[in-house]
Amino acid sequence: MQIESNSAVAIDYTLTDDQGTVIDSSQGGEPLWYLHGFDNIIPGLERELSGKSVGDRLQVSVAPADGYGERKEELQQEVSRDKFGDADDLQEGMQFQAQTDAGPMVFTIVGVSDEVVTVDGNHPLAGVPLNFDVTVKDIREATADEISHGHIHGPGGHHH
Ligand code: ZN
Repeated sequence: MQIESNSAVAIDYTLTDDQGTVIDSSQGGEPLWYLHGFDNIIPGLERELSGKSVGDRLQVSVAPADGYGERKEELQQEVSRDKFGDADDLQEGMQFQAQTDAGPMVFTIVGVSDEVVTVDGNHPLAGVPLNFDVTVKDIREATADEISHGHIHGPGGHHH
């Protein structure tokens, strides 16, 4: 069986940046299940997995445009600290969701001073070249329910 649209696929993966630092990995845990053809994973990786079989191992370098996008500097903004009310434990690295003209967005605090909080709406991996080492562990046909929901159910997937 080969990976194609509507395949439920389990992969082991390790993701590193160009310095070799591990960003994320399934090592030591369960494989990642995803539904092929539904943008469950980044496009640059999904494309390379098409046609692969169980046991295939691939190394894929994904440019930011095919990963989490390029950084948009305009998404980094300084916000008056007053806007955060009386919160006094604001720290770099904290994330929060805010309504914007483009809908809800997740922001990360990247700087805190007495007057101003600097927030960044970029995905933390925007602008980062990604290197995946992936092994295909399992492939099955997705169920009709999974296809209508656009994600995998059961072990390694959604429970609802
Ligand atoms: Zn579902």
